[in-house]
Amino acid sequence: MRLVNMKTKIFNRKQLKQAGELIKKGELIAFPTETVYGLGANALNPKAVKKIFVVKGRPSNNPLIIHVCNLKQVEEIAYLNPLAKKLIKKFWPGPLTIILKKKKIVPKEVTAGLRTVAIRMPDNKTALALIKYSNCPIAAPSANISGKPSGTCFEHVYEDFGGKIAGIIKSRQCKIGIESTVLDLTQKIPEILRPGKIIKKQIEKIIGRVRESKGHVSKPKSPGMAYKHYSPNAKVIIVKNKSQIKEVFKKYSGKKIKLLIYKNAINMAHNLFKDFRDADKKGFDIIIVKSIQEKSLGNAIMNRLRKGGKIYQS
Ligand code: AMP
Ligand code: MG
Repeated sequence: MRLVNMKTKIFNRKQLKQAGELIKKGELIAFPTETVYGLGANALNPKAVKKIFVVKGRPSNNPLIIHVCNLKQVEEIAYLNPLAKKLIKKFWPGPLTIILKKKKIVPKEVTAGLRTVAIRMPDNKTALALIKYSNCPIAAPSANISGKPSGTCFEHVYEDFGGKIAGIIKSRQCKIGIESTVLDLTQKIPEILRPGKIIKKQIEKIIGRVRESKGHVSKPKSPGMAYKHYSPNAKVIIVKNKSQIKEVFKKYSGKKIKLLIYKNAINMAHNLFKDFRDADKKGFDIIIVKSIQEKSLGNAIMNRLRKGGKIYQS
């Protein structure tokens, strides 16, 4: 499949019906969610799904998350189990993706040939309305060229996909700013494959013991764990304290350096990917990021930071 130069229509929130119809027809539409922007296609149309991999440059063995707007859609594509029902009741709509055994109707392109499927219901009115209007579940990875920081605002999504997809829905910067928690419910002990805003403790309160994947396995259950991810063009250096910041500035004197320090985890998650991309646009060579304590949302942020950068060793 070749990329053709096409006109990308910019939709506002009142034009979702039109955008939904394009999805239904097999076109790609980027849309906001509460986590990051998604690059959506009709999940039940293999041709449409294939386009996602082409425009993103995403390896075809990295499966997609299917976004739904009601439980009927979940039952159409997967086998629900009691744990899933409990979690859905508590956390949906919201930033929790659950992995369930898939039904035949889901094309192999979506799940990269796996017998399981990842599903979530986004907590964003625009996203939910788009799914409703398209009248099909929507497969959507983060809206960014593969390997780059996830798109969290309209401008960045347009930079990556303007001229390559049918449309983008214009909206405010995504609220949370990092991707959903991914929880595999097909194992005896459920496993968190990717940390996110909803943390282990909150999940355990509802369904009992869960494990947390440490990532970096050679044959990943969640292929997202294996790839280069979240990387701006600038080199990202993660530091602990002021003296390390000073050392890095000294070591790279002459280079254009951007320093990112955040007041808390919520603010950091909300802005990190946007700040990475803005720094690239301004031509910074190096981005120094002050790390955050690895608990709760901080754990999810550090998971992304480690993949996009290097911890500084003095
Ligand atoms: P993205 O939408 O780009 O944020 O990536 C979606 C994440 O969900 C990736 O890390 C995928 O590997 C993961 N994922 C999607 N479907 C499955 C599945 N069936 N089994 C395991 N991981 C999955
Ligand atoms: Mg992604």
